[in-house]
Amino acid sequence: MTIGKLEGRIALVTGGLRGIGLASARRLIADGAAVVISDLDDSAAAAPILAELGPAASYVRADVSAEADWQTAHAHVNERHGRLHILVNNAGTDLTGAVESLAMADWRRIMAVNVDGVFLGTRTFTPLLAASGAEVAGGASIINVSSIMGLVGMSEVSAYNASKGAVRMFTKGIAMEFAAKRMPIRANSLHPGFVETPLLHAGFERWAASGAAGSVEDLIDGMNAATPIGRLAQPDEIAGPVAFLAGPDSSYMTGAELVIDGGWTAQ
Ligand code: NAD
Repeated sequence: MTIGKLEGRIALVTGGLRGIGLASARRLIADGAAVVISDLDDSAAAAPILAELGPAASYVRADVSAEADWQTAHAHVNERHGRLHILVNNAGTDLTGAVESLAMADWRRIMAVNVDGVFLGTRTFTPLLAASGAEVAGGASIINVSSIMGLVGMSEVSAYNASKGAVRMFTKGIAMEFAAKRMPIRANSLHPGFVETPLLHAGFERWAASGAAGSVEDLIDGMNAATPIGRLAQPDEIAGPVAFLAGPDSSYMTGAELVIDGGWTAQ
């Protein structure tokens, strides 16, 4: 582990109480950053995780799809740190089902969380990232968590595919904008494959319950077999690439797609 590369930097990780977001927060702290986590839980529910993460972490309750909540998050970051160098737009949700069965409200919900959330986070923090990015090697970094489902299609995953494809292209757009204006902010998208998190398990449980597949164990076995590397990813294996994109080692990367999928999309 590279300790210290993010010393003195401030990060915000959305959806940071579980899964990839929590693993990323842990890793950024281990590398020297102070991390603000945002998520949907109230502060009391978040307290045990905050206690585990220690004094470098703080928490603000903010729904990424709610415009007003971003002002709350901004006020928290500004009051506590006055700077922001790393924004990990990680919070996300899923939606599966045959396209003809998808409800409009569910479509709007996944777009609100996965796409509006990334837009609102970027819009809210661009001025602070630009001011703070000038202080650090490699500049400020926005890391937008897309998915391999933003690169390739999958049956009955069309809404999630659409949302993650939007994250991929939004990231390229802002990367070009910051570069053209010589703003010290890089923006890259991250494309994990199948990662063992509460989101993945909940999805497998719904899939198994629908009767369309076997048990959750069968689904995991099938996913392991379909992945060239032969297994699902652990959240820590995504957190390392997050830390890389956050810091000076990725100083020449912007508008890029970092794929971490055990070979899934190489097939
Ligand atoms: P998770 O459900 O385990 O954790 C996501 C966290 O985001 C939760 O703590 C949840 O409360 C929070 N969250 C959800 N909606 C929110 C909202 N509106 N506002 C604020 N917080 C919200 O999920 P995960 O698997 O860790 O996924 C994290 C990101 O990685 C998501 O964007 C997901 O689409 C993406 N991803 C996951 C996988 C995978 O296989 N698990 C693969 C590729 C991409």
